[in-house]
Amino acid sequence: MKKNEQKNLHPNVINGRALAHDFLESVKKEIEAQSAEAKRAPGLATVLVGDHPASRIYVEAKRRKAEEMGIESFHYAIEDNISEADLVRVISDLNNDPEIDGILVQMPLPQHMNARHVLCAIDPLKDVDGFHPENAGRLLIGNPIFIPCTPKGVMHLINGCGIDVQGKHAVVVGRSTIVGKPMAALLTNEDATVTLCHQYTQDLEKITSQADILVVAIGQANFFGKKHIKPGAIVVDVGINRLADGTVTGDVNTNAVIDIVKGITPVPNGVGPMTIAMLMDNTRIAHALHTGLMGMPS
Ligand code: NDP
Repeated sequence: MKKNEQKNLHPNVINGRALAHDFLESVKKEIEAQSAEAKRAPGLATVLVGDHPASRIYVEAKRRKAEEMGIESFHYAIEDNISEADLVRVISDLNNDPEIDGILVQMPLPQHMNARHVLCAIDPLKDVDGFHPENAGRLLIGNPIFIPCTPKGVMHLINGCGIDVQGKHAVVVGRSTIVGKPMAALLTNEDATVTLCHQYTQDLEKITSQADILVVAIGQANFFGKKHIKPGAIVVDVGINRLADGTVTGDVNTNAVIDIVKGITPVPNGVGPMTIAMLMDNTRIAHALHTGLMGMPS
């Protein structure tokens, strides 16, 4: 975290934006080489159902980044009254389209749809979000293809700080299928001793304060303070919470703990930039698979 001095950041801040920038540079070079060899660029389809303002912003950011990376993006803006069956048909067409390597269906979907049905309709080899049950299962058995972007980004952040997780006690708070559960699986696969906590966990503070690595994703502003954290821990704050004054904050009260941790990700500019970087990397992997540059996994 030496670079922090130049940027006026506290030395214990893990600069996700800088790590994502460096990572994306290398992914961009790989995409250039792959595109030249395969004679076509990777194709990413983004599917946005309805007009949820935050979703629109997220999708636009992903498309912009894709274009910067040399990924061709194909956008499908769909009316929110589309039936689940018709949406599945759209996905099925994308599954069969040879120009499309990755399919991203932006969540949340309208109430009348079952998100699980929709996500299951995506070809697992185009599932760049890593939410299909086949990809979730692959991660669990330690043979992943597409790892969900946020936990994959968190692993890169931890490794990027030179932290070897082997043998460490890692505590994950939050057990969603997009963050907490795959995070626990990844840490387990890298030989950490993992405790996964949720709303029914008793004496949460006792558990989190034993963590060498603490990853929190509960969506409650400034919930975690000094009493939850072991001095010298690495803390990854996945939470994104918008306060009444419009500012965005994480799940950790960063100011209260910054001097006792070894490293902590800020919000914003921590996990967020890494998440989008991992989507680009997953699209690169999908392109390599579909163009025969990478062998199909067993
Ligand atoms: P979910 O609402 O799906 O899951 C929240 C989890 O937190 C649940 O498992 C819940 O437990 C647990 N939880 C809630 N309150 C407590 C508590 N007081 N003590 C212990 N556990 C608790 O959220 P997501 O996983 O989708 O997202 C979590 C946060 O991460 C949000 O702020 C979201 O915006 C952010 N996020 C950030 C991303 C990024 O790129 N930076 C990407 C994705 C999410 P239980 O299961 O028992 O209900």
